[in-house]
Amino acid sequence: MRRMAMVLFVFLFGLVSTGAEDEPLQGFTPASSATEREWEAKFRALPSPDNQREYMRRLSARPHHVGSAYDKENAEWILSKFKEWGWDAKIETFNVLFPTPKERLLEMVAPTHFTAKLQEPPLAVDPTSNQQSEQLPSYNAYSIDGDVTAPLVFVNYGLPKDYERLDRLGVSVKGAIVIAKYGNSWRGTKPKVAAEHGAIGCLIYSDPADDGYAVDNVFPQGPMRPSEGVQRGSVLDFPSTSPGDPLTPGVGATPEAKRLAIKDAPGLTQIPVLPISYSDAQPLLAALEGPLAPKEWRGGLPITYHVGPGKTKVHLKVNFNWDMKEIYDVIARIPGAQTPDEWVIRGNHHDAWVNGAQDPTSGQAALLEEARALGELLKQGWRPKRTILYCAWDAEEPMLLGSTEWVEEHDQELAQHAVAYINSDLNGRGYLKVEGSHTLERMANGVARDIQDPETQLAVWRRSQLRQIELAKTEDDRKELRQRADLRIEALGSGSDYTAFLDHIGIASLDLTYGGEGDAGIYHSVYDDFYWYTHFADTDFVYGRALSQTAGTAVLRLANADLLPFEFTDLADTIRLYQKQLKKLADDERVESIEQNKEIEEGLFTATDDPRRPQSPPPHADVPPYLNFAPLDNAADALTLSADHYQAALKKAWPAGVPAAAMADLNQKLMGSERRLTTPEGLLRRPWYKHMIYAPGVYSGYGVKTLPGIREAIEEKRWPEAYSEILRVAKVLEGESALIDAAAAELEQAGR
Ligand SMILES: [Zn+2]
Repeated sequence: MRRMAMVLFVFLFGLVSTGAEDEPLQGFTPASSATEREWEAKFRALPSPDNQREYMRRLSARPHHVGSAYDKENAEWILSKFKEWGWDAKIETFNVLFPTPKERLLEMVAPTHFTAKLQEPPLAVDPTSNQQSEQLPSYNAYSIDGDVTAPLVFVNYGLPKDYERLDRLGVSVKGAIVIAKYGNSWRGTKPKVAAEHGAIGCLIYSDPADDGYAVDNVFPQGPMRPSEGVQRGSVLDFPSTSPGDPLTPGVGATPEAKRLAIKDAPGLTQIPVLPISYSDAQPLLAALEGPLAPKEWRGGLPITYHVGPGKTKVHLKVNFNWDMKEIYDVIARIPGAQTPDEWVIRGNHHDAWVNGAQDPTSGQAALLEEARALGELLKQGWRPKRTILYCAWDAEEPMLLGSTEWVEEHDQELAQHAVAYINSDLNGRGYLKVEGSHTLERMANGVARDIQDPETQLAVWRRSQLRQIELAKTEDDRKELRQRADLRIEALGSGSDYTAFLDHIGIASLDLTYGGEGDAGIYHSVYDDFYWYTHFADTDFVYGRALSQTAGTAVLRLANADLLPFEFTDLADTIRLYQKQLKKLADDERVESIEQNKEIEEGLFTATDDPRRPQSPPPHADVPPYLNFAPLDNAADALTLSADHYQAALKKAWPAGVPAAAMADLNQKLMGSERRLTTPEGLLRRPWYKHMIYAPGVYSGYGVKTLPGIREAIEEKRWPEAYSEILRVAKVLEGESALIDAAAAELEQAGR
C-alpha cells in the first residue's frame, strides 16, 4: 500500500528527490539502509491509537501538577511501563522552588464594586471538571506576592509598541495596574514590560476574539474557551535569565545543591500578576473611561473598549506558598550495541497545570507508544547501534524545570555523548510542524517523506508542502516551495523541553507536532481534559499514531545510521537567509526613522490630529547608522563553500570508502557540529544561553530570535553592539566551517 502510494506520487509530481525506496537512506549504506527500512516498517506498524487513548485516560484522570500526589503516581506508572517493555528505566528526582496560590483577591473598588470569581466551574457533561479539591487555582507561577490598589489601564497585548501608542494617547501606566490580553507574545513579557513602564500590578485575560466565542463554539458545545476559563502559566523571566529552578541557576537542583535565597532568585516578576477569565475581565474593561482603544486593540466582548484610566480602580492581592517540591523525571534507556557512548535522546513532559489531556498527555501518549514499539523490536532481535534515551519530564509547566535540571546535572556527559534531542509536547490534527536545528533539516525532511497522513494518505511531507504553498504570500515563496529539495524547518525559540539541550549545551534538536485543523480554547485550564480531547481534538488518536511514527522514525535513523545524518548545505542556506533578514531589518529601521522625522518636521501629526481625540506626535527618532555586515557575509560564504565541500566529498567516498575507524572519528566531528555553534561565554547579559544562532527573544519569550546577538542589538538600537556581535557570530561560523572542512578532508582521505 505504502509503496504504491509513493510510486504514484513520484510519477504524478516528479518532486520527491529522496523518497524512492531503493535509494539508500541518508547516512546508511545500501545494505544497512535495506535492513533499516525493514525495521522501520515493522516499527511504524506497531503504534496503536487505542493504546494512546487508554494512556491518556489513565494519565489525565486526575490533576497532576508538580507536587501533586497524581504527578508522582503518573511518574511511577510511566516507569513501570518502560520496565514492562524491556527498558532499563529509573526516576531521577530534583528539588525545586514551586510557588502555589495561598490568597488571590481581585476587586474593583471604584466607580462601582465588583469581586472577581476567579473560579472555573465544573460542567455536568465533563466528568473530571469537578475535581476541585485537587485542582490548582488559576494563577501565574513566579509572580511575586503583592497587595496593590490603583487605577486600571488597558494595554492591548502589553508589548513595547503598545506602550508607544499609549504615550501618544497621553496615558501613563506609572503607578497603575494594567490589564493585558493573552496572546501575541509569551505571557511573561506582559508583566515584564508593564513593570519597565512603572506599573505596579498586572492582570492578563483571555479575550473571546482570540480563543473564545468569536472563533468557534465554546466548551462544552465546542472547543473554545468558556467565559470562566482561565489560562494558567509561568511568568518567570527566563529569556533574560535562564529556565529551570530559579534557586539553582546553571546547576542541577539536587538535594545538596547550593541554593539562592528566594529573595535573590533571578527572574521572579517585579510586580504581582494574576490571570483572569473574560467573565471576570468584562466588568473591569466596561468601567474604563479615557481614550477610545485603537481599533486593532479591541477584542470580542460586547463593550466599547476604552484605554482608561478614568475613575476605575482595582485592588489586586496575591500571596503564594513558596514551597520546595520534589520532581520526578523518568529516564529510560536501551544501550547501544556498537557505540553505546553516542546517545539519541527523546522527550516529552508528563506534568500538567491541571488534568492536561492535550498538554502534555497527547504528546506523552505518543512517546509511550514509541517506547512500547521499540520494546517489541527488541524482542524480535533488533538492537540499536547507539544508545537510545527516552525521557518523561516532570515540571515543564512551571518553567522547563525537569528537563533543565537534568541537563544541568548531566551537562558534561551530554556535551560528550549527545547526538541529538527529539522533543514533542502536545499534539492535534492536521499538518506536521517541524522546528529545530538546520543541521538536521535534511534528516527531518527524509522522515516526513516516509510518514503517511491519516486524513489524506499523502506523505505528511507532501501535505505540508501543499499547505505551505497555499499559505505563501509571494510568487518567489511558492517557487521555492516547489523547487527546493527540502521544506524549510523553523528555528526553535523556547516554550518546551528542548531549550536546555539546544540553547545551553548545543545539542542539535527537533520539536515535532501535528496541528492546524481545529481550534482550541482550553489551554492550561481545567477543561483541557479527556472529555475535551476525545470530543474536539484528535478524537480517534490517528495523529497520535502519526506522531509516534514520525518521532520514532527520527530516533531510529539517528540511532542506527552508519554516518550520522547531519547535513550543512541547508544550514548554510538558512544562515544566508538570516543574513538577508538582518540587513533588511537594519535598512527598514533606517528608512522608517528618516520618514518619521520628516513627518514630524513637516507638521503631519499636528495637521492630522483630531482635537476631540488628541494624540501627540511620536518622539524624534535616532537614525541608525549603516552597519558593516562584511564579516558576516564572508563567514556565510565560507560556510556555504565548506558545506558544498563536505557534500562533494561525501558523494565521492560514500559508502565504499569509509573504514570503521574513520567513521568513528567522523561521527565524533558531526556530533560536535552543533556544539561548535555555541560560545562558552554565551549571549551578552544572559550567559546561560550559549547558542549563537538561536535563542528565545528577551521581549518575545517563546518566539525565536535567530542570530540573536545581532538581531536584538539592531531591534533595540544598540549599534556598536550590533557590530561587535557581527564579529562574534562570524567567528563562530568560521569555526563551524573549519569543522566541516576537516570532516570533508577526512572523507577524502578515507576515499583515496
Ligand atoms: Zn506542555
